[in-house]
Amino acid sequence: LGARLHGALNQLSRASVIDDTVIHALLKELCAALLESDVNVKLVSQLRTKVKTKVRKSLEEAEKAGGKEVNKKNVVQKAVFDELVALVDPGTEPYKPVKGKTNVLMAVGIQGAGKTTTCTKLAVHYQRRGFRSCLVCADTFRAGAFDQLKQNATKAKIPFYGSYTETDPVAIASLGVEKFRKERFDVIIVDTSGRHKQESELFEEMVAIGSAVKPDMTIMVLDASIGQAAEGQSRAFKDSADFGAIIVTKLDGHAKGGGAISAVAATKTPIIFLGTGEHLNDLERFTPQPFISKLLGMGDVQGLVEHMQDMARANPDRQKDLAKKLEQGKFSIRDWREQLSNIMGMGSLSKIASMIPGMPAGMMEGGEEEAGSKLKRMIFITDAMRQDELDSDGMIFVSFDKSGNPVGLNRRAKRVARGSGTSVREVEELLVQARMMAGMAKQAGGQNGWMSAMQKMQ
Ligand code: GDP
Ligand code: MG
Repeated sequence: LGARLHGALNQLSRASVIDDTVIHALLKELCAALLESDVNVKLVSQLRTKVKTKVRKSLEEAEKAGGKEVNKKNVVQKAVFDELVALVDPGTEPYKPVKGKTNVLMAVGIQGAGKTTTCTKLAVHYQRRGFRSCLVCADTFRAGAFDQLKQNATKAKIPFYGSYTETDPVAIASLGVEKFRKERFDVIIVDTSGRHKQESELFEEMVAIGSAVKPDMTIMVLDASIGQAAEGQSRAFKDSADFGAIIVTKLDGHAKGGGAISAVAATKTPIIFLGTGEHLNDLERFTPQPFISKLLGMGDVQGLVEHMQDMARANPDRQKDLAKKLEQGKFSIRDWREQLSNIMGMGSLSKIASMIPGMPAGMMEGGEEEAGSKLKRMIFITDAMRQDELDSDGMIFVSFDKSGNPVGLNRRAKRVARGSGTSVREVEELLVQARMMAGMAKQAGGQNGWMSAMQKMQ
């Protein structure tokens, strides 16, 4: 999806005149890409109309405002971006766990959707952010359900509660939540059972558990690989057991995710996380704007910074260093290089690469190898830099005219390109990326300090 959307926008930026034909072609490609990734037909046609109307309106308004030269490309691009964001943003805020009180979260969804896995990932996510987290297994339907949760929880060092003998899920859920509430846990996550058959029974059970433990947030876990069926399934759950958030799993496989987007529109419920693998760390926070930005090849600087922070958390000594630098709004090319080599050692390169602004679209589709070689080239570039260049913010590579306006890259940049076997364009790319990271650091280090900014992002 990303590659196609990015391609369509690229065509737009190459076009010399933006007329109806160009806009029509863009919309056609955009709609085809959305349909191909399982977004509901009705939604796609609505989107098309909305973008058209928006573009027309913006152009008319600009004309009225004095017929000044408007950047039509920007108008079109913004309309597309906004409408895509609207697709995944129902406009309601999900519940955010609060420290110092007990937050009960409950996962619902059909069997195999990824509930148990996701519950553990969530517990780890909150634990890392300073919430004391724990798990309750209220799945008494599937043999081995408790063992699975126990195994996951033990591996993740998360306290858990469950029973081999009690058969009433409501009783277990109540007992578990009560126990952990008394022990003053911050986040209690209740895993429930899902079944294929007897849907009404499943719904009754969920409602019963829900009224027993009174969750602050019920999360529907939705398997992306079910495609178009996601919409109907989420509607059915919403009607019986109301939920306030969605987590879409298995986006790492061949799933297209468009069905999940349709489910958001159908149930007006925000997606809060994406599951992107079987491992505990394969959970990505979901926010509409960065997600679409990433999809269009525009990067996700916030996600990247958060990821760096996560890496730093795993290594407290480095955390202090990085936190201090970010606090002071200092972030040199050397720091960017260090982050890049950290990323190289992290696995899931394609995932992270897509967060870096200006990375070629289709990186996710291109897979690990392509992402890896791209990241390596970026490191080669920094390898070809001198010490003072590494310690700079990158301005050292820019040449200026007499009145101090930047006019392009200087001989240093050419030397680095030659020395690294890359191109000046790639050097420029890296400089832009480092600058964006530095800008992000400054912003975050500004007003309230880096750490509090990070906390706000949770
Ligand atoms: P539940 O029945 O809803 O509790 O589902 P489980 O948590 O037991 O997951 C079912 C299967 O899906 C397991 O094999 C998980 O490892 C796998 N799974 C869960 N989430 C993801 C994901 O995001 N990506 C991938 N590839 N597999 C996942
Ligand atoms: Mg399960």
